[in-house]
Amino acid sequence: MKAVVYEEYAPDDDYARILQVKDLDEPKPKSNEVVFEVKAAALNYNDIWGMRGQPVAVPLPHVSGSDAAGDVIAVGDDVRDIQVGDRVVSHSNMACRVCKACTDGREFDCTRRTIWGFQTGPTWGAYQEVTHLPEVNVSKIPESVSYDEAAASSMTLLTSWHMLVGRAKITPGQTVLIMGGGSGVGSFGIQIAKLYNCDVIATASPDKLDKCIELGADYAVDHRKEDWHKEVWAHSKEIAKRKGEAPGIDISFDHIGETHWNKQLTLLKYGATLVSCGATTGYDAHTDLRHIFFKGTNILGSTQGTKAEFDQGLYWMGQGKIKSQIDSIYSYEQAAEAHTKMLTGKGLFGKILLKSQG
Ligand SMILES: [Zn+2]
Repeated sequence: MKAVVYEEYAPDDDYARILQVKDLDEPKPKSNEVVFEVKAAALNYNDIWGMRGQPVAVPLPHVSGSDAAGDVIAVGDDVRDIQVGDRVVSHSNMACRVCKACTDGREFDCTRRTIWGFQTGPTWGAYQEVTHLPEVNVSKIPESVSYDEAAASSMTLLTSWHMLVGRAKITPGQTVLIMGGGSGVGSFGIQIAKLYNCDVIATASPDKLDKCIELGADYAVDHRKEDWHKEVWAHSKEIAKRKGEAPGIDISFDHIGETHWNKQLTLLKYGATLVSCGATTGYDAHTDLRHIFFKGTNILGSTQGTKAEFDQGLYWMGQGKIKSQIDSIYSYEQAAEAHTKMLTGKGLFGKILLKSQG
């Protein structure tokens, strides 16, 4: 079977130099594992970190990829619910399932947690024609959801679902601000907030504002403008007037960080929540603490989520209420080009997929 393999790192981001399409032996299932033929896989930023060898030196030779969808072709003796022929998608959060965090329902806090396709290996990830995972790390794909859509959802849908549902405890009718609504997590964030019948204000770069509205956002604001927050505030006033409430935001969904952090805090209502899963513009954010203590603000961190949360998100995909955004599809031979596109992010909307045939 074919796989996209690298045997050395590329700290200079010259992926074409290290990525090769190679023939590897097909895996056999361990007793608790399923083996599946990968029909579609999706890129994530941890592929870049892996190839750079920073901040974690990943095992070499390495096969990347944390999102895969396909058909089960073999199962181990101890597998209970998955059968040969099932359509499955990966849940790449490999927790130990034994420690206190895991048995407390917080598999994302497991100190022995590894991300499949990033920290696993040698040669164990999504960019191979046949791969394997423990049964607990795959979910069945709803009938109406394609392999492409399932692969494009996995890590990103889980992250967004856990932020809004698991951490921020979203409730119907809230006013929700989705920062970076044109990104993978942002586009799911908009749809999840609408699933909860919330009023949604999304921010994005000018070229992605229309897509945010298409996904269901009630308002879309250009966050490159200096006074973007004033526009958000004005929209929140319109919403508040209609509802007979105080203006402001109930939940701010953030992954941008530094450049927009403090202004998000100024937009929050009393007792509101800011939930963060990343900081694409930088980590060194300024915080005016008055926004925290006077207003009783909840600042929540969030990373990945539980398998059960992913299954909830998949259920709503099956109902047509949440859709994956797919930017483009590349073949194994074009893997370097695909990763460079993700790195530059130019004109990107949705996930980049990798398939053996493209
Ligand atoms: Zn654990």
